[in-house]
Amino acid sequence: MKYECGPDWDMRTVYIDEKISPLRTAILMSGGLDSFVLYKLLGERNVGKVFNLKRADRMDNSENLEKLIDRNDIIDIIENPEWTGENRITNLLETVLLEYTDEIDALYFGINHIPSLYHFPEFGEGCPTRPWFIDNSKILKTPFLHLYKYHIIDLADRISLDVTATRSCLTKEKDHCGNCWQCRERNWGYQQLGHEGDPTQPSYINTSIDMPTGD
Ligand SMILES: [Zn+2]
Repeated sequence: MKYECGPDWDMRTVYIDEKISPLRTAILMSGGLDSFVLYKLLGERNVGKVFNLKRADRMDNSENLEKLIDRNDIIDIIENPEWTGENRITNLLETVLLEYTDEIDALYFGINHIPSLYHFPEFGEGCPTRPWFIDNSKILKTPFLHLYKYHIIDLADRISLDVTATRSCLTKEKDHCGNCWQCRERNWGYQQLGHEGDPTQPSYINTSIDMPTGD
């Protein structure tokens, strides 16, 4: 399937392989927005294994995943505390792929771009490291790698998917704190689409487009 998404000024295309074998297809989920949208795009019955990512510091939304999707076969993956910075994602993927290599043909992962720090320098503080490119086997599928948060929010809207129960905040406050990097990215995503902000957040922070001048 092919999906168009994003605002008029930045439309992008997402391809989802339709020839996947449900029993041998897996997805990495977090309780957040991106993996939930990807899971729904794949179709629940097309996913044989769901891995629930649990951070070593337990500042994650893994408990929210159990509320989001109705299935009793979720497999916990607990990150190694030594996986930090640039290598965190690579180590995580390699570990899952190695451990389940005989059981899966496709591992879906909803990783996507962070806001450009050149255009949005306010995102520097607390900014996570996400790879631009993932060199991996034919098994790994990252159909959102070229998308920003606003594309994924728009995609959810286009398939009439309610994402208000997803949780991206990495503080242990209830729902969304509105201040941590993940909350700010989510808020920014809604604002880029012309909304006032993320409807699940207590307050809106102004991250509206500040177009560069000159060159
Ligand atoms: Zn937060």
